[in-house]
Amino acid sequence: MTTDCQTPDRQALAQAIAQRRPWAIDTLSWWVRYGSVLGEEATAQEYIAGVYEDLGFDARLEPIDIDAIKDLPGFSPVDWSYDGRPNAVGVFDPGENKGRSLILNGHVDVVSPEPSSLWSSPPFDPRVVENEEDGETWMYGRGAGDMKGGSTCFLWALAALRDLGFEPASKVIVQSPIEEECTGNGALALCANGYTADAALIPEPFNETILRRQVGVLWFQVRILGKTMHVLGTGRGVNAIEKSWVVIQALRRLEEEINAPENIPADFAHVAHPINLNVGVIDGGDWASTVAGECVTRFRLGLFPGEKVEDLKARIEKCVADAAAADPWLKDFPPTVEYVGFQAEGCDFDIESDFGRMLRAAHCEWRGGEPTILDATCTTDVRFFNLYHGIPSTCYGPKAVNIHGVDEKVSIDSMQRVAEVMATFIAQWCGLRERTET
Ligand SMILES: [Zn+2]
Repeated sequence: MTTDCQTPDRQALAQAIAQRRPWAIDTLSWWVRYGSVLGEEATAQEYIAGVYEDLGFDARLEPIDIDAIKDLPGFSPVDWSYDGRPNAVGVFDPGENKGRSLILNGHVDVVSPEPSSLWSSPPFDPRVVENEEDGETWMYGRGAGDMKGGSTCFLWALAALRDLGFEPASKVIVQSPIEEECTGNGALALCANGYTADAALIPEPFNETILRRQVGVLWFQVRILGKTMHVLGTGRGVNAIEKSWVVIQALRRLEEEINAPENIPADFAHVAHPINLNVGVIDGGDWASTVAGECVTRFRLGLFPGEKVEDLKARIEKCVADAAAADPWLKDFPPTVEYVGFQAEGCDFDIESDFGRMLRAAHCEWRGGEPTILDATCTTDVRFFNLYHGIPSTCYGPKAVNIHGVDEKVSIDSMQRVAEVMATFIAQWCGLRERTET
């Protein structure tokens, strides 16, 4: 038997969430400890699947079949394997949809903490500092902020609702995809496996703001050939590492042109320097006493919503070709541009949609005012839901500092605030009923 019931009152909810705080800190600590850089996600996934089970979800670990996704829109090419690197997903199906169904998604992968010697404590040994100078309680650790802290918020909200004797009255799917930080192929595979819902919420660490739009991201690498030579004949050799500088400078000029005020679309006019080029990796030469014969430089460049990845590729290839044509060596040995990783388009979210309004209202209810609206200069997995599946999707997550950097940390207090808003949002979007299982 099921019984319809009201949304729990705010005070009861606040209390239930406060009581779950030690559990949330413990859950996040363990999850951070199971560091999950590219290729090493399995243990963290097994761990979180267990948490899903504890919260009443039917948990699954799903391998990624690259042949099943490689022709889908949004796919990003890779040169690595998916063996032993599952997505984790949990399904709660009440057997009815009294309200609307919901996906709660947070990527498991974290970026490398290197150089870890610069951290004040080991990056995968999380450390909670109560009441730092700013009065907030923080957890330090790689992935605490981006984004296991955010994912813990929705588990925290669901746990508190359970403690009060409630469960969602519509289907809820919790997801922990791999590869948000390099391809998005984890989220792509989840969508391809048929996990859809009426809305998808991703608690990326955007400081309790609501995401309205995000840029796309393209990864590319430029391979330059030089002329190897013993250092005795350095003058007759051509150093591929040094030649990479010709290409880097040309791409910096392209970045400047893209960010010129007259070239920025109105939607991003208020964002300072929305499109960023990053020189992320340089891999050249193989011997200190040999003139470097080959250099591969890996870049990341953004693109505006509405722009096509293929058009940006053409622009990059022309930029590299023009720079090569003006160089005495490269004109005869032109660099090649290759693509591995992100081929992500930008996208928008309608904050006036039912989903947007309800999430903003839940924030207002707890915080007493409208949330700040964010136009982000990075990408997130919301694009798969928004662009390819017609599922409205946005980000709303806690405050974090130094994500991708040294001494990354997440505010536990902010996580608690996000859990409050999420509990109210889940109650209103999905509806609640009395818990039927024991
Ligand atoms: Zn993230």
